[in-house]
Parts: sequence; C-alpha cells; structure tokens
Amino acid sequence: MNCTKCVGKMAEKKGTTPEGFEYVYFKCKKCGEEIVDMKQLHSVAKKYREMKKYTAKISKWGESLAMRIPKDLVEQYDLKQNEDVTLLPEKKGIKIVA
Ligand SMILES: [Zn+2]
Repeated sequence: MNCTKCVGKMAEKKGTTPEGFEYVYFKCKKCGEEIVDMKQLHSVAKKYREMKKYTAKISKWGESLAMRIPKDLVEQYDLKQNEDVTLLPEKKGIKIVA
C-alpha cells in the first residue's frame, strides 16, 4: 500500500479508540499521512453499535440526588454498597470510576 499524498511506503499501525476498540491503520513513513481503510471503519462502527447502553433514573435522597445503577453494571464492575466512587465531569457527561 502506498501513500495517496506522496506515494511513499505505508506502515501498518495499531490504534485504539478512547472506548478501547482496536483498529489497524496505515501511516506514511515519508509524510506522516494516516489512512484507515473502510473495512476497519465499519468494524469499529459495528462495535460502537454493540456497546450496551444503560439508563438510570435520578431520585432525591436527602439534600442530594441518588442514581440507581443497573444490576448488570453492579456485577460487571463488582460494585459494593457504601463503596466510594470517583465522579469525573467530562464534556459529554459524568464518568463514574469505581
Ligand atoms: Zn505520504
């Protein structure tokens, strides 16, 4: 495979999306151009669709608000009652780190 910009040799590289999905891309050794082929894009998009989504209702609990965490997630992350978790405010929401 040659670079579409400078026709230099492309090297195969492994990348990971912020969600932890691995994909392969090609990087030009000469100009640094990066190309992801359509197959790879489709497979990453498919993984995104397969990602489970959970919804939770926020309810009032004294002066604070509480959120119920679905059983599946409790088991997956081995969460315990009274355990302290870290809340990380991010652009698109709040990330919970157990
Ligand atoms: Zn190039």
